Amino acid sequence: MNKLSIKDVELAGKRVFVRVDFNVPVKDGKVEDDTRIRAALPTIEYATERGARVILASHLGRPKGQRNEKYSLRPVAEHLSELLGKPVQFADDCVGDEVKRQVDALKDGDVLLLENLRFHPEEEKNDDAFAAELASLCDVYVNDAFGAAHRAHASTAGITKHVGQAVAGLLVEKELDYLGRVISNPEHPFVAILGGAKVSDKIPVINALIDRKVDRLLIGGAMAYTFFKAEGFTVGKSLVENEMMQTALDIKRRAEESGVELLLPTDHQVVDSYEPVKGESVVAKTIPIEFTNAGHVGLDIGVETAAHFSAALQDAKTIIWNGPMGYFEEKPFDQGTIAIAHAVAEAADRGATVIVGGGDSVSAVTQAGVSERITHISTGGGATLEFLAGDTLPGVAALNDK
Ligand code: AMP
Repeated sequence: MNKLSIKDVELAGKRVFVRVDFNVPVKDGKVEDDTRIRAALPTIEYATERGARVILASHLGRPKGQRNEKYSLRPVAEHLSELLGKPVQFADDCVGDEVKRQVDALKDGDVLLLENLRFHPEEEKNDDAFAAELASLCDVYVNDAFGAAHRAHASTAGITKHVGQAVAGLLVEKELDYLGRVISNPEHPFVAILGGAKVSDKIPVINALIDRKVDRLLIGGAMAYTFFKAEGFTVGKSLVENEMMQTALDIKRRAEESGVELLLPTDHQVVDSYEPVKGESVVAKTIPIEFTNAGHVGLDIGVETAAHFSAALQDAKTIIWNGPMGYFEEKPFDQGTIAIAHAVAEAADRGATVIVGGGDSVSAVTQAGVSERITHISTGGGATLEFLAGDTLPGVAALNDK
């Protein structure tokens, strides 16, 4: 990495502003999944152990530039305090005199979490005056919010113009290290598994993967139906992006020309009509793709496909996975995604470098109980895809060079 890291700067007695990604699900005042908070602990502990006065800032949800208690970070402060085993102070806002007073009162090793940055519309507008106000709170700026690094916002980009030192946190450093190795020098066979609903979100990464000579590209999830429909198959009422059909055909052709093996599902789980009613079980059946009729809704890959995809990972040395294989939020349509989670974990056991990114795939490896076996779980969804597609992340570009 050619950027300065938190390890390169003096922290003792300094006011250190750490932009973290605490965009976690909160329900009834409780944090439901603390993966992202845990991912920031190494940097927070590194700084406090060295006597920094740590100021944490994050966004949570989409409050659209307005104060909204539903998106308050207060429950996160409580949760973080439990994880750190020490008090975490909370500021009711992220700028203003009261916040300044709280920052001034910090002692070496203290931690203060600021309220949701997005309660101010200036945050997402990358407003310069707002960025300068945030910067006035600190001596050193650390970006450890990999999940937000693809956005040029006041707390990820603008602020760096107003601080003496802008450096990467340990999480950002680790992400760039793993993802950087995959795009610059992957060990072959290199296999990418992509799923989810939208082809449109994944075109840049698919093209970059083809250019970087991925050996196999496995496509599951609703994305696959756009490919099937473009080829003239009946997909029934399955989710399709009609405007992406030509793109899907182009991707197929490019893969073929580049010698990339493109694997699509051969069977899937379908229902005759689907009204997701909580608590009511749905009757699903597994059929070959070509048996699909006009009334079917395809909601997951079938067992045969899961077996084909797993076989395609047998000799893999590098695997990246982003996106679920089906409508995995509802049972039984989580089966395909869970099967892939086990398959990538087994590949990691055989020595493959396995990188899983994107919220849904990450929660699938957690649900499957295999997260410990994965080489690297990326905390970024969009940021991971953009980085793998070869784009410069504004939140990284803005940091000081080594
Ligand atoms: P994306 O944002 O494009 O990564 O898509 C993620 C979403 O795609 C998840 O919420 C999945 O439930 C959904 N998804 C994946 N496969 C299907 C499918 N076959 N039918 C409906 N939704 C799906």
